[in-house]
Amino acid sequence: SFLERIEKIDSKVGSYLSVLGEDAVKRAMEIQEKIDKGEAKSPLSGIPVAIKDNICTEGIKTTCASKMLHNFVPPYNATVIKKLLDDNAVIIGKLNMDEFAMGGSTENSYFKPTKNPWDLERVPGGSSGGSAAAVAANLTAFALGSDTGGSIRQPASFCGVVGIKPTYGAVSRFGLVAFASSLDQIGPLTKDVTDCAVVLNCITGYDPMDSTSAKVEYPDYTKALVNDVKGLKIGIPKEYMGEGLNSEVREAVLNAVEVLRKLGAQCEEFSLPLTEYAIPAYYLISSAEASSNLARYDGIKYGYRAEKFTDLLDLYKQTRSEGFGTEVKRRIMLGTYALSSGYYDAYYKKALQVRTLIKKGFDEAFEKYDVILGPTAPTTAYKLGEKVNNPLEMYLGDIYTVSVNIAGLPGLVVPCGFDSKGLPIGLQLIGKPFDESTLLKVGYTFE
Ligand code: GLN
Repeated sequence: SFLERIEKIDSKVGSYLSVLGEDAVKRAMEIQEKIDKGEAKSPLSGIPVAIKDNICTEGIKTTCASKMLHNFVPPYNATVIKKLLDDNAVIIGKLNMDEFAMGGSTENSYFKPTKNPWDLERVPGGSSGGSAAAVAANLTAFALGSDTGGSIRQPASFCGVVGIKPTYGAVSRFGLVAFASSLDQIGPLTKDVTDCAVVLNCITGYDPMDSTSAKVEYPDYTKALVNDVKGLKIGIPKEYMGEGLNSEVREAVLNAVEVLRKLGAQCEEFSLPLTEYAIPAYYLISSAEASSNLARYDGIKYGYRAEKFTDLLDLYKQTRSEGFGTEVKRRIMLGTYALSSGYYDAYYKKALQVRTLIKKGFDEAFEKYDVILGPTAPTTAYKLGEKVNNPLEMYLGDIYTVSVNIAGLPGLVVPCGFDSKGLPIGLQLIGKPFDESTLLKVGYTFE
């Protein structure tokens, strides 16, 4: 039924880059047989899932929505894919995104923009806009996305679905095409918090293939699905509620605070004074890492290669000029500049120092609070074309999400209302490292 629905309406939404019709049906039948024989016990058995196109799928095109990888078919599966398949999930397709996950609206895809199912003239957010739109439009049961600075949470907010960026190290990055390795995490986009917990149970865990994977005890996240927030201490950063925040978004967030208060949570404002430095630090660090990570696309080993060139250096130049889009080039140039000798201390090193201070700010806050609560984005979904030519304005939209990646913390987004245009608003809950369970517990309150 999902495949039929994709056939019928995805030409309007544009969430898929590839759909695995017959192959998916065949696998679903095989799994049904297993289920009938009692051999498939995982709750994901036979459940359709779609995957952001920067997560490697063996034998299935993985393009990162870039001309550079338009024909790339990985010879291996990402660890998360292996885990989903081991749990008998059925992959039904790959989802649109901003090129190499750089962007916040999915308009930076080389192939096509994705539309917000709530209003087709508006963006679904990004970079995991295909993932959020597909879940919102009922074009998959759930999806995987990636989040480097908000790319799961902001589209979840814009499309009215649940999304979580897990703690850095909780989900293996093996097979995730790298954007900024110290910030990237894979996470689920789902219809509700219950599904989020079930998918987390599948994809979290230590992986020797990822040197930053964390060897800790991973709990059963479904145990957190209880209605009990009594006595929880919740902090609301006043810098997240001030200037620049749309008044309807603020109201919806404050309503959510009231709900939690009535249920016995202790909510109070506090200060995260370094918030204003989060965007510059994030764009320096992420672009620096991107400039290094994207150096591998040289037209030699795989991916796009320019047709006309004079010598080896020119082959690199032409390939990269033709293969990357504008935003990706902007990041590579910014990152290369920030890392060059003479500028390194002023920019990259300074950004790392700010990173340490931002982390410290959160550490201190978590001595007092169990959860930090706030908006996900300053606005609801905006119109296609509204910000795409103004990168700085687009970057400012990441103000409430990037610090979470900078500090490696988990961040859950759950729907908490609508604005007067009928567009969804997402509440962001930030937790202590590896304390996804408490976030799920608070999020479950709104289910
Ligand atoms: N919008 C942010 C950026 O463009 C976040 C992207 C992401 O999380 N992948 O970098």
